[in-house]
Amino acid sequence: MSNIVDGEIRNTEPASGRPLPPVRVTPTEDVRDVVVRARRAQGRWATLDWSDRRKRLLAFRDALNDRAEEMAESISRESGKVHFESLVWEVVNILDSVHFFGTRAEKFLQDQRVPHHFLGVLKRGYVRFEPRGVVGIIAPWNFPFMLAMSDVVMALAARNAVVVKPSEWAPHSILLARDIMAASGIDPDLFGVVTGAGDVGQALIEGGVDMIVFTGSVATGRKVAAACGERLIPYVAELGGKDAAIVLADVDIPKVADQVVHGAFSACGQACASFERVLVHASIHDEFVRAVVERTGRLRQGDPFSSSDDPVDLGAMTVPSQVAVVERHLADAKAKGAHIAIGGTRRNDLGERFFEPTVIVNVTDSMLCWTRETFGPTMPVRSFETVDEAVEMANALDYGLNASVFSSSVGRAEDVANRLQAGATVINDFFFNQGVPEAPWGGWKQSGVGRVRYGREGLRHLCETRFVSVPRSVPFELPLRFPYTAGKLRFWTAVRRFLKSPLSRWL
Ligand code: NDP
Repeated sequence: MSNIVDGEIRNTEPASGRPLPPVRVTPTEDVRDVVVRARRAQGRWATLDWSDRRKRLLAFRDALNDRAEEMAESISRESGKVHFESLVWEVVNILDSVHFFGTRAEKFLQDQRVPHHFLGVLKRGYVRFEPRGVVGIIAPWNFPFMLAMSDVVMALAARNAVVVKPSEWAPHSILLARDIMAASGIDPDLFGVVTGAGDVGQALIEGGVDMIVFTGSVATGRKVAAACGERLIPYVAELGGKDAAIVLADVDIPKVADQVVHGAFSACGQACASFERVLVHASIHDEFVRAVVERTGRLRQGDPFSSSDDPVDLGAMTVPSQVAVVERHLADAKAKGAHIAIGGTRRNDLGERFFEPTVIVNVTDSMLCWTRETFGPTMPVRSFETVDEAVEMANALDYGLNASVFSSSVGRAEDVANRLQAGATVINDFFFNQGVPEAPWGGWKQSGVGRVRYGREGLRHLCETRFVSVPRSVPFELPLRFPYTAGKLRFWTAVRRFLKSPLSRWL
């Protein structure tokens, strides 16, 4: 089912089914012009003083803060996410990000001294971080504001311009963000937006951008990587996950059950780092499952805008085809002998994109719900006997985004966490590290390529580097130049011998 009709994106609110305002699709042949305008704006932006740029970014932060409720409403309307999550996970997260990178970019991007271990008497050097130019950002629908904006904020702080292609399923919040930024005094062309489906994303890659930051599925990530390879431009890919939560035998069961239920069902399970595989020590498996089922039964699902006196925990899923994936994975699991401990069906009384939070037990390796990203409100649970077995099960897939380990001993949990093949491992919590702008975010294996979120390294990755080599004023130079002579060769033979001698350890 296409949501693009007569050159317009026509979506309905996932929760209420009410039509959202249509959005004009950017013709693919116009994408290059948006990039050209962004490049001109970038030239002006990059020549501002750091203090001037900081002032403008913080003005955007304040303008967004003033319109935080409006933004949260836009996010909930187009994604079906509950108001609490739209406000806290998306808007507050980005307010903090703008503050963090707006105030620290100058420091993070200062020249980096490069001490020379061998030739330091003769030379010194440093790395300078220059903006890449125009960064193309291709974003998914699940966190329609936060995921794109965290890249926008960092790219602008690194003195780039951006052109964003939001998902066709959720373009409104990014369009609103662009308007808020323009109203706060930042050149509108610095933050370009092109709208449409995958062909517009493809046109953006081919449209002259200097780098791509892609967030989305593994399947599309491969296409994006190939297209960037064709143009030989750098890219970062933040891809899918099938994150494990490992629950050791010594946990406080009620407390950890609360956390695991939250990690599996927040955002209706549509977070790349949702708990999609829960591994519980066999000695507590049954009691843990009872605790999880009891808490799942208490979750309130409904209108994402329900009043603050009586808020809900789960809203609707965003995209109809994703509901179908959940149903397919559940049907497969049931056919192969799994038991649905709670949930398992659509809440048609609420609307066709509402799916009950679902706990699945008697799960095996042969089931799609255990091996493929489901991206919905399902929590498959399995038991393990030994820590080695848990680690082996957690590492068995080609995904490696986040993972969590729960134990009453932080040290014991760390020992397990450091054996997991994942870009981040979290002790006794869910994926809250997404909100830590100092921490690198990204996946191992097929969960991603490169790291651009967050921190100093992420900001630097949004830059080209130039190494500058500077001579020291000393009255001698290395015997390197023409004419090559026997004397010069003797010098380098002595160097070679030195490198094999015990003295070389002082180098
Ligand atoms: P998709 O891969 O379907 O789409 C991502 C974006 O790519 C969309 O804007 C899409 O446009 C666009 N696109 C589609 N085809 C192409 C193409 N050929 N060239 C360029 N762009 C294209 O992902 P979803 O939107 O379904 O997002 C869910 C996925 O994102 C999950 O796998 C999830 O795990 C992952 N994700 C990863 C995160 C991370 O940090 N690692 C964070 C959040 C999500 P359109 O939608 O208009 O078709």
